[in-house]
Amino acid sequence: SIPLGYFGGIGAASANGILFKGSNYLDLITKVNTVVLDKTGTLTQGVFKVKEIQAEIPEQEFLAYLASLESQSTHPIAKAVVAHANLKELLRVEEVKEIAGHGLKATVNGATIMAGNGKLLRQSEIAYPEDLDKKVETTVLLAVNGKYAGFVSIADEIKPDAKQAILALHAAGVDQIVMLSGDKTAITQKVADELGVDQAHGDLLPEGKVEKLESIKKDASRVVAFVGDGINDAPVLALSDVGMAMGALGSDVAIETADVVIQNDMPSKIAVAIQIGRATKKIVY
Ligand code: ADP
Ligand code: MG
Repeated sequence: SIPLGYFGGIGAASANGILFKGSNYLDLITKVNTVVLDKTGTLTQGVFKVKEIQAEIPEQEFLAYLASLESQSTHPIAKAVVAHANLKELLRVEEVKEIAGHGLKATVNGATIMAGNGKLLRQSEIAYPEDLDKKVETTVLLAVNGKYAGFVSIADEIKPDAKQAILALHAAGVDQIVMLSGDKTAITQKVADELGVDQAHGDLLPEGKVEKLESIKKDASRVVAFVGDGINDAPVLALSDVGMAMGALGSDVAIETADVVIQNDMPSKIAVAIQIGRATKKIVY
C-alpha cells in the first residue's frame, strides 16, 4: 500500500504543473544527483527563427524546395523554415525520408532534394563551404540533385528561467549537470557556458545520447534524471532513473515515455519536483 503522504505529494506536484506518473518516482527523484538535459526545446525555446539565407540558385527556387520538403517534418527547425518561406503552394514531395539527427531527403518536383546538417551532405559526399561547420549558428544546408544549393541559418533563444533552473539544481545538491544535443558542438558549448552546466556534448545522434547516458550510469552512485522533449529523446527517457518530459511543446512519444511531465515546459520545475519529493518524504509517516 502507498502511504497517504505520496498522494499529497502527487497533488502538490500537480498543483505546480508537474505530473508524476507514480508515487515511486516521487521517492526516486529525491535521490537524483545527476541531471542530464537535452538542449533544444528543453533549455532553449525550441522555436527557431530564420536569420540569414545564402542561396546558390534563385532564392525563390531555393525556398520552394527547402520549405516544401520541410513541410513534411514536425521538427522545430522545419517549422521555422516553413513559416519563413510562407509558400502559397507547395511543390510535389514524394518518398520522404526523415533521418534522425541529420535532416530530410525526398524527391521534390522530380528533383532529388536533401535538407539538413553537414553530416547529411557528407554522407552523400556532397561538398559545401567548409566554414559552415564553424558557424556558431544552427544551419540547414540544401542540396539539389547531388549539388550544394545554399543554406539558411536559424536561431533559437534560451528559456528565461534556464539559468535559474541550473542554479537551483546545483543548490539542491545535484553535483553533475550534463547537456546533450544533436546540434553543433560549438553552439552546445556556448549555451552550456552561458547557463553554468557542468558538461556539454554536441553533434550527437539519438544513439549517441543513449551511449552518454549509459556511461554515466556505469557509476552505481549516480541516480540520473533525464529531461527532454523530442521523439529522439524517448530512448534516453526510458533508460534514465527518472525520465522527465516537457509537456506543452514536447512530442507525444517523449510525454508517453516519461515518468514525470512538466506541463508548462519550464526547466526551473525540475528542482521544484525534487523539492516536492523531499517535502513529501518528511510527512510520509
Ligand atoms: P536536438 O538534440 O537539438 O533536439 P535533433 O537530434 O532533433 O536535435 O536534430 C539534430 C540536428 O539534425 C539538428 O540540429 C539539425 O542539424 C538536423 N535536423 C534534424 N531534423 C531536421 C530537419 N527536419 N531539417 C533540417 N535539419 C534537421
Ligand atoms: Mg530537443
